[in-house]
Amino acid sequence: MNFGKNPLGIHALCIVGGWSEAEARQAISTAAATGYDLIEIPMLDPDKIDVAMTARLLEEYGIAPTISLGLGPTSDLSSEDPDIAARGEALLGKVVSIGRDIGSTHLCGVIYSAMTKYGAPASRSSVEQSAEALSRICAAAAASDIQVGVEVVNRYETNIANTAAEGVALCKMIGAPNARVHLDTYHMNIEEADMARAIVETGDMLGYFHLGESHRGYLGTGSIDFAPAFEALAQIDYSGPLVFESFSSEIVDPQLSNILGVWRNLWTDGGDLIGHARDFMKAHIKAAAQVNQLMTSDLKGDVRYG
Ligand code: MN
Repeated sequence: MNFGKNPLGIHALCIVGGWSEAEARQAISTAAATGYDLIEIPMLDPDKIDVAMTARLLEEYGIAPTISLGLGPTSDLSSEDPDIAARGEALLGKVVSIGRDIGSTHLCGVIYSAMTKYGAPASRSSVEQSAEALSRICAAAAASDIQVGVEVVNRYETNIANTAAEGVALCKMIGAPNARVHLDTYHMNIEEADMARAIVETGDMLGYFHLGESHRGYLGTGSIDFAPAFEALAQIDYSGPLVFESFSSEIVDPQLSNILGVWRNLWTDGGDLIGHARDFMKAHIKAAAQVNQLMTSDLKGDVRYG
């Protein structure tokens, strides 16, 4: 599917907690009707995804998928236990196959370690092991034109990539042409000294972007200042997906919601939530483009004495 610049996406968990045919139809049709270009489908348990049904519904509603997951403690690519690491690589291989079969453009998330609170820092050898496995996963993904994004998340969800700079370093270690950094405002708000500067310094290595509020509810109702982030994205001419992520105990995935610590009811009306997020993102994209134009315009230095 061909997109313009910055296709807007929505994480499926804003709409449904599972992926039965009825749930998949509800998620895909709602995302499409709300004006989103793509839907991010979580793949924590790829065996639960009906590939043919998913592909058919995506086609029916004319919307593209991306896929994401966090590995678990029993599928941790960075584990010193070779059986666990092998299980992680097999899981990612399966997810790449699903991505190929449903036409996914991106595979992203915490795919380099378990998505969990670690009790110790990562060792150099475990990071190298993870990067080596991901270089093989990237090669398989490249064969199906899938870009791979390593999501930089906060310290309570991984011990490998907590900052954009660490994400860039990990991608360089992976060394694959389709490996990119996946940033998320929710996590950057916790870890980065300067969110906008982190985006600018990631530059061309940025491949995927999550918009999440500080409490993961409605955009603009928490403590994140989104304007500088959007201006930084405009400054580096970022053209990849902008995907809204929000979680509430209103919609529960028995696995993912618990990993993410979704204990509170941040909202009850997912339809209203995602309509608001669409308008919020569009307004910020437009404003940031205007700011960028004013700041780079040839007229910037014009002297306008009367
Ligand atoms: Mn995210």
